[in-house]
Amino acid sequence: MVTFGLAMGLVFPSIASPFVTWDPDRKIYFRLACLVAGLAVGSFCYFLVQITLYQRNRMLALQKQELEEAKSRFGSLTHGAIESQKWDVSFEDSRVPTCWQAKECNQVDCPAFGRKHLRCWLIAGTYCGGEIQGRFAQKLGDCSKCDVYSQAVGENPISEIGENFNSLMLAVREKEDLLAAANEELKDQYIELELLHRQAREMADTDLLTGLRNHAHFQHHIRWEIDKAGQGSLPLSLIMLDLDHFKSINDSYGHQKGDEVLKRVGKKLSEEIKSGGYAARYGGEEFVILLLGSVAEKAMAIADRLRDSIKEIADGIELPQRAVGASFGVADLPECASDAGSLISAADSALLFAKRRGRDRVAYFKDLNGTELQEGDVERLHNRLEGASLQTIRALAEAVDANDDYTLEASSSMDGVAAALAEQLGLDKEQADTLFLASRLHDIGKIGIPGSILRKTEKLSVEELAKLQQHPEIGQRILQEAMQLQDLIAAILYHHERWDGTGYPERLHGQQIPLTARIVGIMDAYRAMRSDRPYRKALSRENAIAELEKGAGTQFDPRLVKKFVELVREDRGTKLRNAG
Ligand code: GH3
Ligand code: MG
Ligand code: MG
Repeated sequence: MVTFGLAMGLVFPSIASPFVTWDPDRKIYFRLACLVAGLAVGSFCYFLVQITLYQRNRMLALQKQELEEAKSRFGSLTHGAIESQKWDVSFEDSRVPTCWQAKECNQVDCPAFGRKHLRCWLIAGTYCGGEIQGRFAQKLGDCSKCDVYSQAVGENPISEIGENFNSLMLAVREKEDLLAAANEELKDQYIELELLHRQAREMADTDLLTGLRNHAHFQHHIRWEIDKAGQGSLPLSLIMLDLDHFKSINDSYGHQKGDEVLKRVGKKLSEEIKSGGYAARYGGEEFVILLLGSVAEKAMAIADRLRDSIKEIADGIELPQRAVGASFGVADLPECASDAGSLISAADSALLFAKRRGRDRVAYFKDLNGTELQEGDVERLHNRLEGASLQTIRALAEAVDANDDYTLEASSSMDGVAAALAEQLGLDKEQADTLFLASRLHDIGKIGIPGSILRKTEKLSVEELAKLQQHPEIGQRILQEAMQLQDLIAAILYHHERWDGTGYPERLHGQQIPLTARIVGIMDAYRAMRSDRPYRKALSRENAIAELEKGAGTQFDPRLVKKFVELVREDRGTKLRNAG
């Protein structure tokens, strides 16, 4: 300030002297005035500089303080976010306008509108303030190139750092959202995979036809249950069942019908174990039920109930009554066995015994003790009993034939035709035997029909006809009492059914009629036509054949008529009989 005053006092009069003519006295005064004015101007400048410096220092101190505060806020925000793994944090700076404020934008559909910490340069495709905004940082690589950003941030480094911090957090959040979505997707895929795995395991353990557990699962399950029960400390019963004459259902009505029966048996078993228990398809037409904590009496009662309910299956699928039935074997732990293997064997033996005793029954392993267990003896005795019954019944049948005035020749020639038909149709031994017996015994029920009706030459009255038509059922009852040959009984019961469903006693039609009954029906008709009857003379062979052919497709199975006629024409019956 002093220097400036002296300089002014010296320099100014020197500059002015060439232009002014100074009185020496006045010159000194002028110099002094310049000096004073110089000092005054110098002082003023000095104060001006001092004030400026003071204000700058204050501002710097304030900025320093703000920076310190910002530093600690960034520190705690970052720390909190890392600690909690929640990135929903932002640095708030009241001086920074949001983009809609910076752009004076009032479009409420702008996602940044009204929101404090959302910046339009961070939002893809946002239209705001008449310009397309969005992802400047990504698009241009530098936020400062966005005018909204530069307006918002200005020269303030804290705002700039704050905005960058917020952008960073937003990016982290976005990545985290992506990661969470990927995680969710992965979780969904894992659940789907788990489900598929469970389904595959379920399929491997399940019998696909019946929906029950399969053999492999049963073998594993029974051992597991017995282990769990502590080596037989708990009562545990096993029921094993096998469908009776199931093969003849397949043979007579087709495998699809057989499958339907198996499915329905599976359903019955599932219903039975609903209140507790385990059921499986052991194999083919054999099933098992495992009952925990159950003694044999309870298992026998359940088996008996099932025996009845399995019989009902035939009704629902258009099979003859009695076509479906089952035999049951029951064994329990610890009474009959000590481990899984011997328990299965015991139930199996009981089942075999039930079969040998004539099927359609329940047997308990412990009741087999002694004589019954000697399998050969049981079978032999049983065969002898059946043989004895058959002989008696055959004698009765011949008496019936005699009563009915059939010629012996017509009857016995049918034996040969039956054997030849059985051979041609590929029937197995059991079926061929059934056919043979049925061809002989099919009219045994006529024992119960008065001779006056059988020998009547005039047309029968309605009541008489109804009475005559009862003979298949009477025959069935006679044989049922004597033995348990289900196939034979079915052949006899249904030999008056007609292919078109107008026959009796149950009006079965087509393939519903057991094969042997269809054959016997044809043989019976032919035999009657070839014999002298009370109401007409015997027909010639050709006339009888013509009658059969007329009835093919209505009364008789057309395929069987064709085969039968071929055999009769070849005279196979006689040839076979002679050969025999
Ligand atoms: P039994 O009274 O002595 O048990 O006589 P059965 O005819 O029932 O017994 P057999 O063992 O002679 O015949 C069993 C039949 O079961 C033979 C087979 O064709 C049939 N079968 C096995 N599995 C199936 C299946 O899944 N579907 C069908 N339709 N039949 C089957
Ligand atoms: Mg069977
Ligand atoms: Mg079997």
